[in-house]
Amino acid sequence: MRLPLSARGALVAAKIPLYRAFRRYGEPRLPPLAMSFVVTDRCNSLCKTCNIGRRFIDDPSVAEGELTLEDYTRVFSSLARPMWVTFSGGEPFMRADFPEIVARLAELVRPAVINVPTNATLVRGTTRGVEKILGRLGETRLVVNVSLDGVGEEHDRVRGFDGNFALAERTLAELRALGDPRLTLGVNTVLSRFNIEHADEIFDYVLGVVRPDSYVVELAQIRPEYHNQDDVIAPDPVLASRAIDSFLAKSEKHARRGVSRLVEAFRQKYYADVKRELRSPVGHECYSAFATCSVTAHGQVWSNTQRADPMGDLRDFDLDFRALWRSRQAEQARAKIRAERCHCETSNVAYSNTLMNPRALPEVLYHFVGSALP
Ligand code: SF4
Repeated sequence: MRLPLSARGALVAAKIPLYRAFRRYGEPRLPPLAMSFVVTDRCNSLCKTCNIGRRFIDDPSVAEGELTLEDYTRVFSSLARPMWVTFSGGEPFMRADFPEIVARLAELVRPAVINVPTNATLVRGTTRGVEKILGRLGETRLVVNVSLDGVGEEHDRVRGFDGNFALAERTLAELRALGDPRLTLGVNTVLSRFNIEHADEIFDYVLGVVRPDSYVVELAQIRPEYHNQDDVIAPDPVLASRAIDSFLAKSEKHARRGVSRLVEAFRQKYYADVKRELRSPVGHECYSAFATCSVTAHGQVWSNTQRADPMGDLRDFDLDFRALWRSRQAEQARAKIRAERCHCETSNVAYSNTLMNPRALPEVLYHFVGSALP
């Protein structure tokens, strides 16, 4: 049965007390509300904040043994109905079967939103892939987030890919020309020590020239999935805090549409939390492994991409996600998270944590209603 987004949102809201009980007492064992799938370790960029591309170029065999299309079909058949699914990489469009993977998820699982970040270097493949996905999307909304970490040659420098900026501009133009109302065209900027000095220039370009439906700004993160644990990438905290203030002030003037208005309300709360953590890290209750999880390209399930507590290998469970989610190893990961307070700024996880926090919701509601006012 197809339900409008607002009705599905109400169903999720009704489950919040149950997720809180799950985290506190271990029951009822609900399926995740948001999932992310890393579909490939292949990438053609050499970003300064992430070593996935470098690792793949040094040794292409790292992408051997990734889950196949048929593997994904079996995994999807064992899923309940998450609200939000993110597909990332590497560069997801480097997989020729990526559009088919997404289309199958849309048909079998019918989440409310599918989100795909891309480096936008493969103009044709990305546009055709998105067209194919839209053809089988049903009423699911698709968000495609193009990475922009600089303007012009600055972007190419940070991303380690000559000509990336021009390709990203073409990809954005071609995706916009598809003119499908179910497609939210987004831009994602990662602020790091390599571009923090140019933050305002980037914001002005994205908000004033690209004018995407959605704009996400995140701080560079150390994550096992990026293989960057030994790197120094974080921006200066004072400059980062100033950049967030500047971004919020600039983006306030730009109207948001569709899914992005609700996401934006959660994001305002997210930025406030990021700034607070920059000042004094106090941590928070995390719902990773309860309401969210992440699946690697080789089928390992993690609590999330930053903590990366292992919950099990899908291949050990005959690609049955439900069985893995109820396993002893998954319970062990949850016990660890239950006992700790976390300090991560992973936005997808942060939105779930906010949703589960009754004291945070009035602030989200305030931003949501505020964004509708003239
Ligand atoms: S950030 Fe994305 S595009 Fe850049 S190297 Fe990592 S996976 Fe590739």
